[in-house]
Amino acid sequence: MAEPTVFERIVAREIPADILYEDDRIIAITDIAPKAPVHLLVVPKTAEYENVAALAAGDPQLLADIVAVAQDLATERTGGDYRLIFNTGEDAGQTVFHVHAHVLGTGLQEGSLGSEL
Ligand code: 5GP
Repeated sequence: MAEPTVFERIVAREIPADILYEDDRIIAITDIAPKAPVHLLVVPKTAEYENVAALAAGDPQLLADIVAVAQDLATERTGGDYRLIFNTGEDAGQTVFHVHAHVLGTGLQEGSLGSEL
C-alpha cells in the first residue's frame, strides 16, 4: 500500500495543522509555508485523486464542494478576492500528489506562482 500523504496524516491527526474547516469529505488548513498573507489549502479527505483533472473526472461534485469551501473561506478572510490554484505535475510545482486547492489572498507577488507554490 502507498504511504499516506501528508494530508491524510493531517486528517488522521498524526501531524498537527491549523484546521480552518472540516466536514466528512473535505478539510481546509493553513499552508505551513505561506506564500501570501492568506494562504490556505482545501483538500478532499480521500487521496484517490492525484490532481484536479482526475478529481473533476472522478467526482465533479467533490470538486464543486472544494470550490465552495474555498469561496466561503476567502469571503471570511480576504473579502472574497482570491486566487485558486491547483498545481498539476512536478514541473508546475506540485509536491503533494493528493489533489488540493491553494487559496491565496492579496499580497502574492507577481511571478511567484508555479514552482514556488
Ligand atoms: P503543492 O506544492 O503540491 O502544490 O502544494 C503542497 C503544499 O502543501 C505546499 O504549499 C506546502 O507548503 C504544503 N504543506 C506541505 N506539508 C505540509 C504540512 O505538513 N502542513 C501544512 N499545513 N501544509 C503543508
